[in-house]
Amino acid sequence: MFDLDKLTPALRRALACPACHGGLARTSGGLRCAACANEYPANGEYPDFAPEMRMKSGLGPFYLQDPLHVPHYEAKTRVAFLEIMGGNWDGAVTPEVEDDYLRGHLGAGDAPLLDLACGAGRWTRTLAGHLGSDQVIGLDLGRAMLTSIRAALPEVPVIRASALALPFADGSLGGVNCSNALQLLPDPRAVLFGAGRCLRPGGVFTAFTFLRSESPARRYFQHRHERTFNVRSFTAGELITWLDSAGLALTDLTTEADMVFLTARRRRL
Ligand SMILES: [Zn+2]
Repeated sequence: MFDLDKLTPALRRALACPACHGGLARTSGGLRCAACANEYPANGEYPDFAPEMRMKSGLGPFYLQDPLHVPHYEAKTRVAFLEIMGGNWDGAVTPEVEDDYLRGHLGAGDAPLLDLACGAGRWTRTLAGHLGSDQVIGLDLGRAMLTSIRAALPEVPVIRASALALPFADGSLGGVNCSNALQLLPDPRAVLFGAGRCLRPGGVFTAFTFLRSESPARRYFQHRHERTFNVRSFTAGELITWLDSAGLALTDLTTEADMVFLTARRRRL
């Protein structure tokens, strides 16, 4: 059963009601917001801050919820996804490149860190290894993904919540990472705004996502993929503008074909 008291004091203070950002207390039924009295089920392995919500529709979200597909996602599907969506035909972005980016742009001062849309825990594992298992918390809306990450990384706390209603207090997190998910989320600009709200001044935001290809041939396949799987790509300009309006100042933008790694810091008020 999920135990609030097993969280580090900083994470315990950070976790908050997604509706009003008030503090949470344990009840027999789950977690209760002291401010608005909303209750969230928490008697399973993770609290559910979005019990009524389902993932958006489309073939992509469908696959990410399919228990038969989830175990094969990292090794099989994602390799093809990076080729078609990111133009990664020569394999320049490897799992090691992704891990090195996170290790190179996040440090001990960036905890506690939220792995936003953690999926089955591919990058949560890297982050937990780098910062410590108790310094990282995973968030996803997909139950099959949460089941997978619980099995793979039982020492890392996870929560079920919407990326559009983060259950954390303002300025309570040292870092937020969002690897390979912005293109899938329903309102990426609002997701970035939420990340900015939850980060403390100086806190770091890292992400990996896809740029709209300027190559007509690559764009043709990318666009077909977007239509089929209900995902999207971005221009670097719109990502930077959205980050800026969320109070996040870009500190690094690394591109490879149609893929982008970025880092931003929460501006000091
Ligand atoms: Zn509340």
